[in-house]
Amino acid sequence: MAEVFNWHLGRKMTYAFDEAHPQRQFVAVFNINRCIGCQTCTGACKATWTFSKGQEYMWWNNVESKPYGGYPQHWDIKILQLLEAAHQAAGRSAEWDPSKAGPTAPYGVYDGLTISEAAGAEEQALGYLPPDAEWRAPNFYEDTSTAYPGDRLGISLEGASLPEHQTWFFYLQRICNHCTYPACAAACPRHAIYKRPEDGIVLIDQARCRGYRKCVEQCPYKKPMYRGTTRTSEKCVACYPRVEASDPLSEGVPMETRCMAVCPGKIRLNGLVDVTADGAWVEAPDHPLYTLVRQEQVALPLYPQFGTEPNIYYIPPRWAPRAYLRQMFGPGVDQAIARYAAPSRRLLAVLQLFRTTQRMIFRYEVEEGPLVLETEVGGLPWQMYDDTAIGFDAQGREVARLSVIEPIYERPAERVNSI
Ligand code: SF4
Ligand code: SF4
Repeated sequence: MAEVFNWHLGRKMTYAFDEAHPQRQFVAVFNINRCIGCQTCTGACKATWTFSKGQEYMWWNNVESKPYGGYPQHWDIKILQLLEAAHQAAGRSAEWDPSKAGPTAPYGVYDGLTISEAAGAEEQALGYLPPDAEWRAPNFYEDTSTAYPGDRLGISLEGASLPEHQTWFFYLQRICNHCTYPACAAACPRHAIYKRPEDGIVLIDQARCRGYRKCVEQCPYKKPMYRGTTRTSEKCVACYPRVEASDPLSEGVPMETRCMAVCPGKIRLNGLVDVTADGAWVEAPDHPLYTLVRQEQVALPLYPQFGTEPNIYYIPPRWAPRAYLRQMFGPGVDQAIARYAAPSRRLLAVLQLFRTTQRMIFRYEVEEGPLVLETEVGGLPWQMYDDTAIGFDAQGREVARLSVIEPIYERPAERVNSI
């Protein structure tokens, strides 16, 4: 196995292939706090890519209710249990050391085993093949909250800003993470899975795939799915014609994917970030994704301890117990929620840009506006300004302009009854 640097873990780790990085990486941020669980994203993906015979149980995008939901059923609990057993067998613990945080290790250093480091002799990554019954529905336990008083899972409620009912759940939106170190690609004995050098999108070559399902077994997020009619595996393709600007709607510039573009909750922001030869993000303080992930660090990777360096990031929910969230998003959770609850002027401006355009935003500017609110958040003073966020597409054209205070437009008297 080769040694590669994983900045989510703040250290080198073993991986099947030598370190190599795309020039740009497909990245998205999902704001869990805004999701209304409407499944419009799920339907849009299905209507675009998986509407054919043999794809009935295939949901490249799914939104599951945590802590009980999952597609396939219990996918994360099962892989976490396997990883815990591997730690016990090795006499190790899966600890993070946040005191070692720095520019190349924003969340500190993970001292535990990743799925590739915990792999058995016959596999590239720790994994399991879910039985058919666990794929039979896309949203097991939808809208199911924890039982009153909310602590029967043994999860401490510390840090949860719950209302009077001590119960909780939240929606977790899931697509393929187009990982920097994809376990699916490492697992494939046919080398049918590849990461594109131009945008880091991970694809399965349908002509090479023989349906061995090693990717289904070893992707910790369970995002490759088997299709019985073709006897191949398929997965999210990141709507690559839109990313490539070859979609007829794109007018020559990269667009966000279908699941991002349709979201009524305005929770998703998707783009391309420039990557250096050693895998670091090129410093770009005017890129909205750089601001969210690297500068403000309000958006965090899902289960970074798996070690695939996933490229979908989440703003964690404010109301769920912190111990649960730390297991899911790593040690950056407390800081991320604190910064999201009392956002800086730049962060508040960037949060306006979600779902303002189908074009990918490559740069933003902030026009400063007047002070509109002075209050306290978490016992500390906080001011809100009516700043304006302006987004620009790949050709530098303005494609979005949103102020923090939403303007009110009054319908003229002669059109009072018109729709
Ligand atoms: S989420 Fe799974 S399928 Fe997607 S790139 Fe990562 S390992 Fe591969
Ligand atoms: S479309 Fe948006 S708000 Fe609706 S479930 Fe999907 S991510 Fe959540």
